Amino acid sequence: MVAETTRIYPGKKVDLHTHIGSFGGWANVSCTDDELVKSMRYYNVEKSAVYFTDNELVRRAVQKYPDELVGCYWPNPHDKDAAERVRIALTDWGFKGVKLHPLFQAFLPNDRIVHPIVEEARRARVPVLIHTGHAPFSLPWSVGELADSFPDVKIVMLHMGNGHGVYMEAAINVAKNMDNLYLETSRMPNGSKIREAMNVVGKDRVMYGTDIPFGDPVVEIVKGTALGMSEEENKLYFYSNAKSLLNI
Ligand SMILES: [Zn+2]
Repeated sequence: MVAETTRIYPGKKVDLHTHIGSFGGWANVSCTDDELVKSMRYYNVEKSAVYFTDNELVRRAVQKYPDELVGCYWPNPHDKDAAERVRIALTDWGFKGVKLHPLFQAFLPNDRIVHPIVEEARRARVPVLIHTGHAPFSLPWSVGELADSFPDVKIVMLHMGNGHGVYMEAAINVAKNMDNLYLETSRMPNGSKIREAMNVVGKDRVMYGTDIPFGDPVVEIVKGTALGMSEEENKLYFYSNAKSLLNI
């Protein structure tokens, strides 16, 4: 079915997936805190979860924009003091989540080196957000193994398997069997799978994100609008689900 209008959802939003800083190499994208907040005001985004490998940069941005930005700590599990750094960020810095990128930093989600980090998330009662959609390290089944090891920690599959049909399907199938798994939809192109996820996994466990500066809000908002959701569903998807997940 084709959407009947080109209107984009105007309501309040929480963006679960943004970055500031500069991603060099093949990515060649960057975003400053000022640019992020300017974009949020334009698109009616109340809060954005923000993370980058330079966590000090994120900390300063959150201090500058405490009403708009929600810091999530991005550790490298190979660092011996990774869990300690996570603990400091969650207790002293006021960060509200932990981000993991198994592909980028070369580890399996359920590896032993990850467990002390997730234990810190459990202690602070914050979610763990994990990049998905790329072999060999960032696959939904592997994230499911971590979710199984920590049934009392909320774990989000960022990108919901990304653009790969097999991985999108796996993200849905793994999440539907575990109450502690959530799906974020940035840069996942297939709207029908988002609808399916809402029906199969649950309307309270699928949520909006942009992956700024890799993704653009206008694309992600149009994608969500084109799902043809009810006003109540729009509110859950664009706003309330991420708000309650982050406890903000
Ligand atoms: Zn990202």
